[in-house]
Amino acid sequence: MYDYLIVGTGLFGATLAQKLHEVGKRVLIIDKRNNVGGNVYTEKVEGINVHKYGAHIFHTNNQKVWDYITQFATFNRFTNSPVANYKGELYSLPFNMYTFNKMWGVVTPEEAAAKIEEQRKEISGEPKNLEEQAISLVGRDIYEKLIKGYTEKQWGRNCKDLPSFIIKRLPVRLTYDNNYFNALYQGIPVGGYTKMVANMLEGVEVKLGEDYLKDKNKWDGMAKKVVYTGPIDAYFDYCLGTLEYRSVRFETEVLDKPNFQGNAAVNYTDRETLWTRIIEHKWFEFGKDENGNDLPKTVISREYSSEWKPGDEPYYPVNDEKNGELYKKYKELADKEEHVIFGGRLGEYKYYDMDQVIFSAIKLFEGIKR
Ligand code: UDP
Repeated sequence: MYDYLIVGTGLFGATLAQKLHEVGKRVLIIDKRNNVGGNVYTEKVEGINVHKYGAHIFHTNNQKVWDYITQFATFNRFTNSPVANYKGELYSLPFNMYTFNKMWGVVTPEEAAAKIEEQRKEISGEPKNLEEQAISLVGRDIYEKLIKGYTEKQWGRNCKDLPSFIIKRLPVRLTYDNNYFNALYQGIPVGGYTKMVANMLEGVEVKLGEDYLKDKNKWDGMAKKVVYTGPIDAYFDYCLGTLEYRSVRFETEVLDKPNFQGNAAVNYTDRETLWTRIIEHKWFEFGKDENGNDLPKTVISREYSSEWKPGDEPYYPVNDEKNGELYKKYKELADKEEHVIFGGRLGEYKYYDMDQVIFSAIKLFEGIKR
């Protein structure tokens, strides 16, 4: 009999498994995929760590999380500075003085602030949705060229029907600073995320290619407690209806050239281009292999966003009102499952970043009576 069965080897499951194992609990962790890591999984192609389920750039202000995760990997000095491509015009992200200069020709912070001030006048009162929030943060020009198309592609919904918190993830700065994140610590684990998660799971019993929901009773009988990190609605067999998720599809190509776009991420912010962004994976590690040699080829992934349907991988919860209400009902059911703990982005239906997921697992561990 295991003390804990953990379902899912993503960052939530891996953190909890590591912590429980460390204090001597008998832990089994399973995953329906044939690899560990969940969506942070990286795979080597042409000497390049390819982020198979989308770009993951670790960033945090949380000292506890940083001290924890750096036990399992060394992080490089990668700083995310995506470029936005709007119909061939290039803008620097997040919204900062370089962006404002390119958009309006303004040079000083005062000029930029005045331009934003003038454009945000059209919004009076508290912004009620993403569109109003965006315009009130950066004005209509930037909203139209850099936010509207991208957001509507990514979420498949009108910006007026999306919650404003999504856009608040992005900093707005009146300085010439292209760092996408306001984070004290940032980087990519040297050697890839898969290796980092494998390090976390050292000594823990892992079973891959096992679908918990297909034989739930068997698995439940094997442990005193279950930690479930899959979609909460799937756990309950969608009995109250399906929660909405966004899924992502990647078209990955190996190119016989050393440099395709000169940056890890280029966002295509117009509505017409079908993909949302192109990731050129080698630039997460400065175009070098682990011995510091330049890599002759490059791997790129075009990212297409779509509405999740059964059989697809869920990536993003759609945290609007309707789904929030439904989630609450599932949460009530979850609270009644005394032997099961629900956690992570899918288990809690929450747009967690990696560091937040790790922190929530650490907090959960600390709250467990041992
Ligand atoms: N966003 C945007 N234009 C961009 C990049 C992001 O409008 O070029 C908005 C968009 O609404 C997106 C949100 O900012 O959903 C959050 O973007 P982030 O890059 O944090 O998303 P993630 O990396 O999690 O996919």
